[in-house]
Amino acid sequence: MKKDKRKKEGKLTEPVAAAIIVLALLLSMAVSALGYWEAQYAAKKAAQQAVEAGGSIQYTQHSDPLLVLVNPGTPLPENWQLTPRMVDDELIDLRAYEDYAAMCQAAQKDDVWFWVASGYRSVEEQEEVLIRDIEEKKKAGLTEEDARREALRTIARPGYSEHHTGLAMDLNDVSDHFEETKAYRWLQEHSAQYGFVQRYKEEKSGITGIDKESWHYRYVGRAHAQEMERLGLCLEEYVVYLQKQGRG
Ligand SMILES: [Zn+2]
Repeated sequence: MKKDKRKKEGKLTEPVAAAIIVLALLLSMAVSALGYWEAQYAAKKAAQQAVEAGGSIQYTQHSDPLLVLVNPGTPLPENWQLTPRMVDDELIDLRAYEDYAAMCQAAQKDDVWFWVASGYRSVEEQEEVLIRDIEEKKKAGLTEEDARREALRTIARPGYSEHHTGLAMDLNDVSDHFEETKAYRWLQEHSAQYGFVQRYKEEKSGITGIDKESWHYRYVGRAHAQEMERLGLCLEEYVVYLQKQGRG
């Protein structure tokens, strides 16, 4: 009889213990989700405030050079060091080289091919790209002033292009059609594993200051890329987010 009673008690406490464990798990999940949501919200708000403050957004560069921020309001830091490596007749920075090669290798196994259409660009080259476009627009009948303004809508000012870092690259056909390709879908799924993020997304254009570009990828390193993806933050937001966390 005694044995039976113990058995009965055991049967009663098991579901209770299980329920307590489940509740504790749910509670800890809720707490971490709240913290995550709060941090993400703070980063988004801070980045948004910076945008609303006007054209002269002042971002503080992160101490990790892989997170160097170059955007329409933030020029390439003067002390930026590039170690060039050649890929497909284009130069990229050594820091992005190995992971880019690893990403290409993995993609090829899925029958997906990438090529770098545009990698590193010097300030002088950017100036040439801009001048060429202005001249074309003038030939089409625009005044110098209008041509310049129109050109600057799609071409970054010299000194303010992320391509100056050597960590950014335009892939494959550099057109909106890229979005419809298997290569683009592959990147959406795998690029962060290799440290690359799609830099300019439609929903972030108010913060990046640049329209959606499905072909432009930025190397930030594997850990940062995966965290950015998990949090749903663009580089501007992510840099602010880390600084707010004291991880600047
Ligand atoms: Zn680009």
